[in-house]
Amino acid sequence: MTPAPTKKKATPAKAAAARRSAPTAPRTLAEFMTLALAMETEAAERYAEFADAMEMHNNLEVAALFRKLAGIEGKHAAQIMAEMGWREAPAMPPGRATWEGFEAPETTPGDEVHYLMQPYHALKLAEYNEQRAAEFFEHFAEAGLPAEVRAAALEMAADEREHVRLIRDWLAKYPVPEPGWDEDPDPPAVAD
Ligand code: ZN
Repeated sequence: MTPAPTKKKATPAKAAAARRSAPTAPRTLAEFMTLALAMETEAAERYAEFADAMEMHNNLEVAALFRKLAGIEGKHAAQIMAEMGWREAPAMPPGRATWEGFEAPETTPGDEVHYLMQPYHALKLAEYNEQRAAEFFEHFAEAGLPAEVRAAALEMAADEREHVRLIRDWLAKYPVPEPGWDEDPDPPAVAD
């Protein structure tokens, strides 16, 4: 009689989660900048999508703010490309930290925008994203990485903190919305 083989139960979900929570930090400046570039590009695209959505709903003031933010992030991406002398975005090195595990710090799920949202909401959302981006880079600045990676991470973090300051300046110009701001007296037509 052969004993039933003892099999270790695989928990792929758990293993995947562990991998995600412990991504390998970028080891070189190029790896780090690839990561930073991906993040800036993603942020620019996301803000541009928000701007498109707001334009579609004729929420032009908020659209303009998102457009401006997209421009800032796009410029940041272009700056990284220029600094590194890249003509096109390099592929992410396999096995290195990506947004999995950090969850794309500078972007937000699309469902957080509301077609009636006011500039205040758009700026709050951006403030949150930029803050997370700064923290993300600060995390790399503190990790035991090569000095040039740490220096670049610090620089990126400082840029993101600058974005936070800029957004806070804008926020001061807009009132906190009254409760009920999302109630539409003339809601978009729903097929019945
Ligand atoms: Zn930013």
